[in-house]
Amino acid sequence: MNETFSLYRLQQLDSQRIQRLKRIKQIDQIIASDKAIQKAQSILQKATVALNESDKSLEDLRKRTEERTLKLKLAQAKLYGGKVSATKELQDLQAESEALRRIIKTLEDEQMQLMEANDLHLEAKKKAEADLHELLNNKASENSLLMGEREKLKQQLPKINSQRDALKSQLNAKLLEEYETLFKTKGGVAVAEIFDASCKACGVELSPTDIQQVANPNVIIKCRSCGRILYKA
Ligand SMILES: [Zn+2]
Repeated sequence: MNETFSLYRLQQLDSQRIQRLKRIKQIDQIIASDKAIQKAQSILQKATVALNESDKSLEDLRKRTEERTLKLKLAQAKLYGGKVSATKELQDLQAESEALRRIIKTLEDEQMQLMEANDLHLEAKKKAEADLHELLNNKASENSLLMGEREKLKQQLPKINSQRDALKSQLNAKLLEEYETLFKTKGGVAVAEIFDASCKACGVELSPTDIQQVANPNVIIKCRSCGRILYKA
């Protein structure tokens, strides 16, 4: 059996395995982190509080206006009801009515301003609601795609693992140990292909003798620069 080729195959399987595990982890992180949604929820919450406060102020102002309007009506009824005849009292009622009209006018102006502000708060809340809704919808479809991808990757793992185990059982124990040490110390790449007369992993140019030796299936040749096991397709 060509051991270099077996090691190369093992490397390919290990790389595929790691790639899938990494992606699964990444997908889990994406799904777990709902920062955008949390932000949109917080914006909506603030907009709701602002609108509620504005509604309350407006209601308060309406009540105050109503009270004054009622007082004015009473003063007017007394003034023109014919029961009051004393000049001083009539003058007081007249003065009270004028004062009430001024207050009512001020309150109505305030109410107009507050209603404009209230409309803006209402708009802001509606927008925050729509934004959150859209985000939730997008997230749901994004997540369903990701979940599908995750499922597919998970399904591929057992096959990769069994091929990997089968290959390992065929390999010489000492060679496998060497492979595993390199795999751990060389960033998950123990076997490097020769590409364009160079080591594909570290890029160093290889001598014709090295390349020739690598072609011999029974000899393990390592890159002089990075120490990885060389493989020529
Ligand atoms: Zn190298």
